[in-house]
Amino acid sequence: MASSTLFANTLTASFSTTRFPTPIFNNNSLEFLSSTHSNYNFKTNTSTRAKKLKVKDAVDEAPAVSKSEGNQSEQRKLKVLVAGGGIGGLVFALAAKKKGFDVMVFEKDLSAIRGEGQYRGPIQIQSNALAALEAIDLDVAEEVLRAGCITGDRINGLVDGVSGTWYVKFDTFTPAAERGLPVTRVISRMTLQQILARSVGDDVILNDSNVVSFQDDGNKVTVVLENDQQYEGDLLVGADGIWSKVRKNLFGPKEPVYSGYTCYTGIADFVPADIETVGYRVFLGHKQYFVSSDVGAGKMQWYAFHKEPPGGMDGPHGKRDRLMKIFEGWCDNVMDLLLATDEDAILRRDIYDREPIITWGKGRVTLLGDSVHAMQPNMGQGGCMAIEDGYQLALELERAWEQKH
Ligand SMILES: Cc1cc2nc3c(=O)[nH]c(=O)nc-3n(C[C@H](O)[C@H](O)[C@H](O)COP(=O)(O)OP(=O)(O)OC[C@H]3O[C@@H](n4cnc5c(N)ncnc54)[C@H](O)[C@@H]3O)c2cc1C
Repeated sequence: MASSTLFANTLTASFSTTRFPTPIFNNNSLEFLSSTHSNYNFKTNTSTRAKKLKVKDAVDEAPAVSKSEGNQSEQRKLKVLVAGGGIGGLVFALAAKKKGFDVMVFEKDLSAIRGEGQYRGPIQIQSNALAALEAIDLDVAEEVLRAGCITGDRINGLVDGVSGTWYVKFDTFTPAAERGLPVTRVISRMTLQQILARSVGDDVILNDSNVVSFQDDGNKVTVVLENDQQYEGDLLVGADGIWSKVRKNLFGPKEPVYSGYTCYTGIADFVPADIETVGYRVFLGHKQYFVSSDVGAGKMQWYAFHKEPPGGMDGPHGKRDRLMKIFEGWCDNVMDLLLATDEDAILRRDIYDREPIITWGKGRVTLLGDSVHAMQPNMGQGGCMAIEDGYQLALELERAWEQKH
């Protein structure tokens, strides 16, 4: 696991092996690889430049901390409200809190990740996002790495759905290892959320808080909850997912785009014969495809995608039977997994994404994660990008604060 760190003498901008800048206190002077950092092309840097200006405007207007306020020079007196305690909202809250900002997260239901109740499948957290987590909080990253199942050390790729013949194999291990990045993991969403929520802290997360609107009067932003309670802050981050109300309030109504596919997901107690050599596999077919992934602890997760109009419903106990028909004749890896899955372990949802927009914020409000760039699950990057967003936004906030004070 790549979490060892390059050290600097005192509080210096140093880098974890993941090459995200992270301040580290350490007396063991070793080395400082600034060249490593400059070689690293972190994709979100340019896309967040415009956002940085917006954040900077709001920070410029925030009250400065008086030097006479005792210990508070360490604390940055800026109250940041966050709508949504999903992956992106919690990662941002953690990153901003660690930088000394006063954060408050409003989550409508902490027990229902993506609104799907207690039962939801694991999520693949790829090297880029694990690196961002390391840069935010090494302990949290370690916990995530430990709780996750490594898939990046085996063959992953695309096969023909009927014959099972490999089309292409991806080596996700070597590119990560060469760059000193942690290897991709799969982790239960619930576990990930619990780790993040615990690190952010109960005092920061206001559960059962459905954000319905906000007002930005130029000097402060006020969040309005469904129960009519109102909270004031200096900034608002809309991390409330693909159906974001903050986005709607900010930029007006615009519907997500239907991908053309409905998606069934399931998880089964099942260990395929080739578990030692294959991590995840995408089985391709005409207007349908199937994805299976080892998720550790003797379980396999799968996704079955089928091209059809949105809004379809299955009768009671009808999901597995329907899938058996849709995938009839496909290779045993697919059929065995479907057979091994209980009906009540299958969820169905239609897949949407959003057309990207360049401007993510206005005034004292900005968006992150699915609220601004929801993408299809095939990428395995929606949650990862939300993590990168959280990291980068907290960094921009810190830079803007330091320029001002
Ligand atoms: C089938 C499937 C598989 C996927 N697999 C992967 C994968 O392997 N890897 C990956 O990186 N990504 C994956 N994704 C994408 C990933 O789930 C999302 O991109 C990610 O969850 C986005 O994080 P977010 O924090 O922006 O939004 P969300 O995770 O949707 O979190 C939004 C939060 O805001 C809360 N909320 C919503 N509205 C309000 C409101 N009005 N007030 C208060 N709270 C509110 C919600 O309850 C939720 O907790 C997958 C998606 C799907 C559908």
